Order: sequence, then structure tokens, then C-alpha cells
Amino acid sequence: MSMATITATMLPDYSRQQLLKEIGAEGQATLARSRVLIVGVGGLGSPVLQYLAGAGVGHLGLVDADTLDASNLHRQPIYALADAGKVKVELARTAALAINPSVEVETHAVRFDSGNALDLVRAYDVTVDCSDNFAAKFLLNDAAVLAQRPAVFASVYQYEGQLQVYKPQADHACLRCLWPDATADGVVGNCAEAGVLGPVPGMLGSLQALLTLKILLGLSGQLGGELLLLDFMNFSTVKLKAPRRSACAAPGCALIHDIPRDEKEVEIDLPSLAAASDRRLEVIDIRSAEEVEATPAQLRHIAMSALLADPALLSATGRYLLVCASGKRSLAAARELRKKGLAVHSLAGGLQMLGR
Ligand SMILES: [Zn+2]
Repeated sequence: MSMATITATMLPDYSRQQLLKEIGAEGQATLARSRVLIVGVGGLGSPVLQYLAGAGVGHLGLVDADTLDASNLHRQPIYALADAGKVKVELARTAALAINPSVEVETHAVRFDSGNALDLVRAYDVTVDCSDNFAAKFLLNDAAVLAQRPAVFASVYQYEGQLQVYKPQADHACLRCLWPDATADGVVGNCAEAGVLGPVPGMLGSLQALLTLKILLGLSGQLGGELLLLDFMNFSTVKLKAPRRSACAAPGCALIHDIPRDEKEVEIDLPSLAAASDRRLEVIDIRSAEEVEATPAQLRHIAMSALLADPALLSATGRYLLVCASGKRSLAAARELRKKGLAVHSLAGGLQMLGR
């Protein structure tokens, strides 16, 4: 079916899932308001995308920098061979809209990296890890812990897979609680190196979609403090106890020590402070009270010392631009506050660049 034939008269029908007493009209409305980020639209991401779009999750974000390769198709059945070479997030968006035109799909054709991870994860209610490498999984873990957002992890190795959920609640371990030393990539091969049969990531992705719906709807059975191991060679299932370590406590996990920061992202150049509001940044003047008195700037003022002593002066959901006289102190403060998981930028050059 071409996109042109999808019209507003084709309304999604959720009656079969609304029949469940745990869902009903109220649960359906909750799903319509929900925002889910899917990192990777490959073998895991394909079923996640299909089931969440079909279920009526109102806002989906897709992150993937790749183009479609013919070798993807055996495990990524949302795509067509004729589309090889095209940008995958755009193809995935088309696939989601074909299932449910009422879903809003935002595409990010970029690598999920340290410069965008925190902002992306923070902008969604739940993030689903459908990546195929350890670096991305740990980066996603760290962003989820710092942003205090749930994340649903899966990994696949040949005929085996494992599932884990991180939630800010204390009964959910993060990845670093279970693997405090595992950071190097290449410890376990990915699909390209180790080989995989398509239905194996398909099963894991389906379970990720189920867990995501359970989290959004508040249903029981969210793998709190558990790790689920599945072996599709002999169909064995093992649920291991995986409690959170004492070092991993809200609002951050002490085991997170190497989330790299992209300085270019922290520091931004603006022609005027009016441009900050276009980017939905609240401007905070962090100079001392004496400096503000000598050179008033008519901005919200929180002195740097007060801000660093009490980061809760800023909202965990807000986005901020810190300014000082030259941009040096605001950069140092922004770096510190980012470690607390806050979305903070620094104005390069400070107020002097704006002639104030
Ligand atoms: Zn942890």
C-alpha cells in the first residue's frame, strides 16, 4: 500500500487489547500520551517498533545512523530488499505509520553517542535498548540512570538472549550493577561476527515490547531485580536474582565514572540571548551578587556557589543556559551539573560577547 492511500478515515482499532481489564479506555489513553525511544531499528528494534505502533503508543523516537543492508533482512522483516541503501530510520518510520498512522514518529539518523544520549533519553518516558554493541548499551544505561528514566535492555548471542529492565526504583539493578567491569567491546561477538537466526532477536524484541507496555501501563511482572536468560537451542528459561548494588543508588550509580562528555555540546555559541529562548533554554546568570549589581543583565540570577551547593535549584526536566562574564565559570559549572544529570549548557564567551 502506498502512503497516499492511508487516510484519516482509517482509524486504528485497539478493541482486542482494550478488552483486557488492566487496560481498558484509560490504559489506551495512557499509551496515547506515552513517549518511547527505540535505540537501534534492527533485529530487536523491528518487533519493538511494530508492537508499540500497533498498540497505539503515541510518540515513538527512532535512533539509528545506518542504511539498510541486504544482510539485515533475515532478522529485520519490517524492511524490503528493494530499499537496500536507504536510511533505516526513515524506512522504519514508514513501516510504523503503515501499521498506525495516528502515531507520531520522530527520527534521529545519528549515532547514539555521548553528545546526544542524555538529551534523547530524558525526552522520553521509556528507552528501549535495541543496539548491537556494548558501548551503546552502557552509554544508554548511564544516560537512563542519570536521567532517572526506565530502560529495557536485551542482548543476543547466537541462540541465546538476555533481558533486563532498569527503573529508578530501588529493586531494579542497572547494567553496571551486574557487570561493573564490562566495558570493552568485542568481549562477545555481535551478529555480524557470531551469526544469528532471525527469530531469536525477533523473540527478544517482542519481549522488550511487552515489558515496555507493562512499564507504561504499570502492569506487574517488570523483571524487578531479575535477569531473564533465554536459550532457544533447548528452550530453557532461567530467571536470576540481580539486585541493585549498594553503590548504585538514586539519583546516580557510583559505578558510572566514564560517561564521556562532548565539550562542543556543553558550550554553545549564540548571537543573542533571545536565541536561547528559541532553543527552549532558560538563561541563568551565575555571576556573583556584586557583579550583577555592578553590571545588571535582567536575567534569572543564581550565583555559581549557590547553584553547585544545591543543584536542585534547577528542575530535572528543564534545559538551561548558564552565563557568566567570560564563559569560563559557566563552562565549569555546566560540566559539574551535567554529572548530576541536568541538561545544562554554557554560553561561550559569556556576557562580554554580547556586549553586556
Ligand atoms: Zn548500578
